[in-house]
Amino acid sequence: MSINASLITRRNAAVAKGVASATSIFAARAENAEIWDADGKRHLDFASGIAVCNTGHSHPRIVAAAANQMKKFCHTAFQVSMYEPYILLAETINALAPIEDAKSVFFTTGAEAVENTVKIARIATGRAAIISFRGAFHGRSALTATLTGKIAPYRAGAGIGAPAIFHAPFPVPHHGISVEDAKAGLATIFKSDVEAKDVAAIIIEPVQGEGGFYAVPTDFMRYLRALCDEHGMLLICDEVQTGFGRTGKMFATEHYGIQPDLMSVAKAMGGGFPISGVVGKAEIIDAVMPGGLGGTYGGNPIACAAALETIQLIQDERLCERSLTLGARIISRLEEMKALPDTANIGDVRGLGSMVAFELVKAAGGHEPDPNMTARVVAAALEKGLILLSCGYWGNSIRILAPLTIPQHQLEEGLDILAEALMEAKREP
Ligand code: PMP
Repeated sequence: MSINASLITRRNAAVAKGVASATSIFAARAENAEIWDADGKRHLDFASGIAVCNTGHSHPRIVAAAANQMKKFCHTAFQVSMYEPYILLAETINALAPIEDAKSVFFTTGAEAVENTVKIARIATGRAAIISFRGAFHGRSALTATLTGKIAPYRAGAGIGAPAIFHAPFPVPHHGISVEDAKAGLATIFKSDVEAKDVAAIIIEPVQGEGGFYAVPTDFMRYLRALCDEHGMLLICDEVQTGFGRTGKMFATEHYGIQPDLMSVAKAMGGGFPISGVVGKAEIIDAVMPGGLGGTYGGNPIACAAALETIQLIQDERLCERSLTLGARIISRLEEMKALPDTANIGDVRGLGSMVAFELVKAAGGHEPDPNMTARVVAAALEKGLILLSCGYWGNSIRILAPLTIPQHQLEEGLDILAEALMEAKREP
C-alpha cells in the first residue's frame, strides 16, 4: 500500500467526515508552485492552499521573517502585552486599503473576520439586518454559513441559520441573472422582507470565490455603493479570497473605483500563516467599545511578521503586475483549449487578474452546467500531477489559483497537463 493510501485509511478512522479534502494526497514538502506528496510524487499546485500562497509555498523571506519573530516570542496576546508587528501591520493595511482614514483589527480565520464585519456594522448603525448574495461564500461558522448563499454542504442539516440575514440574487448574466434582475431582487427584499432603514450592511465579494469566480459587474458595485449611501447602510467587501494581488490589484475593490465602509481580509495576507483582519473607516470601527473586538490569538506575532514580509514581497516582486500577465496568458491558453476538438466542452472563460475560472458545459456553445465532467477533469489532472480545485454555485467551474510567483515554464507545464486532462476526461466517460 502506498504511504498516501495508508494515511487515508488512518485519516478516515480518526478525522471527522465533515472535513472534505479535494485531493487524495498528503503533502510532505512544498516549494513555490510545487508539492511533493508522501510517496515522493511531484505535483504542480494550481490551488495555492485555496488562494493563500500567492507568494508560493515557503518563500524563504517569509520563513525567515517568521523564524526571526519566533526566536523573540511566539505569543503574548495583544490584549495583554502588545507588540510592534501588530501596529506595523495595521499601519500597512490602513495605507493600502481603498478606505480613507482607516483602522484595522486582526483575527485568525476568514470567517472570524467576516463575523466581526457584521458585528461592527450592527454596532455602528444600531440596525440588525444584513443582506448577502446567493452563491456567496463567507465561511462555515453559524453566522457566516448563514451569510453564505448555498445550503449544501455548508449548513445542510444544521437547521435554520442566524436571524436577520437576507439573500439577494447575484448577477451572472450567462446563467440568466442580469444586473437589472439583481437590482430588482434587492427592491423585492425591501418590499417583502425588511425595510432598508433596518439594514445594517450589504456584504459582497468583489469576485465570488467558492461561488465560481464571478466578478461583480462594475455598474452593479457602484449601484450598491449608491444604494447604501441613500439608506444609511454600510457596504462590506469580503476580500478574503480576492485580496493581496490575486486580481491584479492589492484589493479587488480597487477595480471598482468605490470605497467600502469595511473590508475583511485573510488568506494570502499571511503567506501561509493564519491571520485575518477587518479594515474600515475609523469612526465605524471605533463604534465598538474596548473589549468588544479581539481574540486570544488574533494578530499572532509570528503571523503579523509573516504578513508584513508577504506584503513587502508582493510589492518588491511586483506581483500585482505579474498577476495581470499570468491571468492574460491563462485565459488565452484556455480559449485555445476551448477551440480544440476532442476536448471536454468549455463554456464561459473568465478572470480578473490571476483569479481565473472556466466552466464545463453539456454542449459546445451552451451554458448548461456539467458538474460530472468537471469532477472528471479535476481527477484526470491530479493523476497527471496537477492540483486543481473546482467551485461554483452550479458545480461546474474549475478555478486556477497558481501562485503569482510560479515560474513561466511551470505555468505552461500545468496548462499542458490541463489540456491533456480535458481530452482524457472527454474520451473516458
Ligand atoms: N470569505 C471568503 C470570500 C472566502 O473565500 C473564505 C474561505 N474560502 C472565507 C470567507 C472563510 O475563510 P476561512 O476558511 O479562513 O474561515
